[in-house]
Amino acid sequence: MARKRVGVLALQGDFEAHIKAVNAAGGEGFEVRSIQELATADALILPGGESTTMGYLLKRFGLDTAIRAFEKPIWGTCAGMILLASRITEGEKRGGQPLLGLMDMGVARNAFGRQRDSFEADLDSPLGRVHGVFIRAPYVSEWGPAVEPLARYEDKVVLVRQKNWLASAFHPELTEDTTLHRAFLEST
Ligand code: GLN
Repeated sequence: MARKRVGVLALQGDFEAHIKAVNAAGGEGFEVRSIQELATADALILPGGESTTMGYLLKRFGLDTAIRAFEKPIWGTCAGMILLASRITEGEKRGGQPLLGLMDMGVARNAFGRQRDSFEADLDSPLGRVHGVFIRAPYVSEWGPAVEPLARYEDKVVLVRQKNWLASAFHPELTEDTTLHRAFLEST
């Protein structure tokens, strides 16, 4: 069977680590910077980075509209999770940055406090046990009935799914653990 072509949005952020992880999980990762490149993808990853910057760049290149119309699986990690959300409930730039708004959820940005700006954790989820790195991570602070919480860190929801959209507050691509990349590929 042909390897699934997974586009990774490459406007900003840690897209290279995701491409390596997609390849290690048996897919074919490639960089997406244009509507034309997006059109050749079987699935899309929105990486971590700076959601404010990525949101403005998406608009500038017309990719925001193209991603909203993309009917294939999308997975957002960290800043990518923020972009998939429809609202920001707490933290920086509450309500004031461009979002894709695909998922019926609100997120709190940079929400784990200063001493925990960066940490690692193992999380149990229906997709398997996953190891994640949290870097100035958000969490899902509210969600509608279509959104399924899949994992929590302490009491905070950090992995969710709605239809074929997946969002994680953490970065599995910065570890050797390809569990979520494999699960994402299986959903394509
Ligand atoms: N704090 C960043 C933001 O709000 C996300 C951090 C990350 O992607 N590692 O966009």
